[in-house]
Amino acid sequence: MFNCILIENTDGYTAKLAQLDESQLPDHNVTVQIDYSTLNYKDGLAITGKSPVVRSFPMVPGIDFAGTVTESSSEHYKVGDKVLLNGWSVGEKYWGGLSQVAKVKDSWLTPLPAGMSTKQAMMIGTAGYTAMLAVQALLKQGITKESGKVLVTGASGGVGSFAVSLLSKLGFEVIASTGRTADTAYLIDTLGASEIMDRNELSVPGKPLTKERWAAAIDSVGSHTLAGVCAGTQYGGVVAACGLAQGMDFNGTVAPFILRGVSLIGIDSVMRPQADRVAAWKQLAELTDPAQLETISRVIPLNEAIPAAHSLLNGEIRGRVVVDVNN
Ligand code: NDP
Repeated sequence: MFNCILIENTDGYTAKLAQLDESQLPDHNVTVQIDYSTLNYKDGLAITGKSPVVRSFPMVPGIDFAGTVTESSSEHYKVGDKVLLNGWSVGEKYWGGLSQVAKVKDSWLTPLPAGMSTKQAMMIGTAGYTAMLAVQALLKQGITKESGKVLVTGASGGVGSFAVSLLSKLGFEVIASTGRTADTAYLIDTLGASEIMDRNELSVPGKPLTKERWAAAIDSVGSHTLAGVCAGTQYGGVVAACGLAQGMDFNGTVAPFILRGVSLIGIDSVMRPQADRVAAWKQLAELTDPAQLETISRVIPLNEAIPAAHSLLNGEIRGRVVVDVNN
């Protein structure tokens, strides 16, 4: 038997702590004893049922996890290997990581980077990995610290916290856009932002073009904020769009693209090819500081995951929530 969070949709949408038998696990080729999972925005949507992200019931949520292989018929993984998983619709379409055990396809797994513990991997989790993909996209487009400042929206959230921290480690001057303008100690002293911007400046409808204030941006908010981000991007700048915390809509104009040559790059972490994942995790292992990870994250037991999911969607959580599934 093993413990997990289980979402059902028979007599209404419910999420509860459950005990299941291993024979109920899906039939995939690698079994993983999970150490840690995390709570991401999407897990919040899945657990609360606020958005229809779960596509099959019953569902064990949890879009990421890290642990040890205990059974494998894969040529790529053997018993004892340390692995992590992000995305591939796990926790949406296939049973996920808010569980003590998971059975998954070998192609969904990534080997744990050398020198990283399973706990550190989940302190980074999908949020840190997505932030790394966004940073790498800006670098690939030729953005350097000499290009100018980089704006990060949703800066106190999981993706935003890592985006600020990774950019600052790479020497960029970072503007952190946030609703928590009083929390400068976290954004400036802990994460390395150089400026704080009130998110209300961007979250309402604005002009098609505004003063050129940043060379690049990582946006995890979408909606009017993304339109405002593009409008304030300097000539030839780059915006990496990776989230929708304000909304899925995008009420911008083409002005930034056709008058300032701004590029808008989409970031998807879920179906990302394996080579990009390995490259992102390799750079995360080089750039992340274990002491800072402890400040960005807090660890909760499995039985607190459901209330924490509600808090996450209510914007009450700063940084990352790691779930110790064995506690
Ligand atoms: P969090 O909830 O941790 O962070 C979101 C942050 O956005 C909040 O902390 C807040 O930052 C800001 N925010 C929330 N609501 C609003 C609002 N109404 N208006 C403006 N700002 C708001 O979520 P994550 O960091 O885990 O995820 C962020 C987004 O990225 C989500 O939409 C998620 O679905 C998406 N995502 C996408 C991935 C991909 O593959 N593309 C992968 C992972 C996440 P502050 O308090 O600083 O204002």
